[in-house]
Amino acid sequence: MKKTLVLPDSWFEMETIQARLVEPSGDLADRTIQVRVNPISGRTSRITFSRVHEKEAGANRLPSPPPDARQPGRCPFCRPQVLVQTPQLIPQIHPAGRMTQGESLLFPNLFPYGAYSAVSLFDNTHFVEIGKAIEGSYTDCLVNCADYLKRVHQHDPSAIHMAITQNHLPSAGGSMVHPHLQVHADRIGSNHHRFLYNRSLTHQHAVQRGLFGDYAAHEVSARERYIGNTGPWVWLAAFAPEGFFEIWAVYPGKTSIMMLDENAWHHLATGMIRVQKLYRSLNRNGYNFGLLTVETPQSALELRAVMVVRSNYAPWTRSDYTGFEVMLGDMATFTAPEETARLARAFWQ
Ligand SMILES: [Zn+2]
Repeated sequence: MKKTLVLPDSWFEMETIQARLVEPSGDLADRTIQVRVNPISGRTSRITFSRVHEKEAGANRLPSPPPDARQPGRCPFCRPQVLVQTPQLIPQIHPAGRMTQGESLLFPNLFPYGAYSAVSLFDNTHFVEIGKAIEGSYTDCLVNCADYLKRVHQHDPSAIHMAITQNHLPSAGGSMVHPHLQVHADRIGSNHHRFLYNRSLTHQHAVQRGLFGDYAAHEVSARERYIGNTGPWVWLAAFAPEGFFEIWAVYPGKTSIMMLDENAWHHLATGMIRVQKLYRSLNRNGYNFGLLTVETPQSALELRAVMVVRSNYAPWTRSDYTGFEVMLGDMATFTAPEETARLARAFWQ
């Protein structure tokens, strides 16, 4: 195998601390907490190992589908009502008003978050349980998103900050159970756009290589958190997770989603469904997905998709954002990323 240039291990910083307490039994005990530094952002996150065996409400089995799952007749994303209840694109972006790719249908978001904000349905299936989607529906939907973003780019070249996101079920922020992706493009970048754009450009100037490409190469050599590939995408458990069971897919050397062919989207779809199957095996039904890009020729920000489990959408579950995350800004998860990778590899066999 060709020797790969990798980041120094010092980039992957972690420290273990102990909390000493007297157990209810009267015994003295130490509880281990790991503080890890995200090599990309410099942010710290914590792994509170003692909570992994805690009985978490609503996660002893996969929760039942939400009540909305049985009401396609009331869903504005189901046919035929989708064609009269959803808005249409301006003709300068697409003359048909809505874009199709296979069974996927794309139209503007009725409640936009930015200048260009669209919704892309996977197909006409009203409710799909986590891990049960048809791969082709994901490929079609992603291709539809990319085609929309290409059209936006032609129509308004200033809208360079682009993203594709997913909220699976309301616990992940989804307002509709009908499976879909959100597509965004704006002149004004998000915090992550701005930070990652600058961070990757600085790295590129310093070493003439891509930041995420280097990160992925390091992780592939280190093996501990490397899960596997789907085509060009390298799948890894995040070293310092800021979400439960956080998994990344990196496309080394690729900085634009405009350049991806259908095959690359197909490979991303394959991995997304494998990660969903992992989440399903952990009895989790809610998750977020995100992929962002800055579409300028000088961008050094390589494509990196992120998936994280969210609290289950079920009665009486506990939010994954506690006072610790909201007020202190450090995510506390319970499972070592090396264990997440080990569990995920089973779905890459
Ligand atoms: Zn529906």
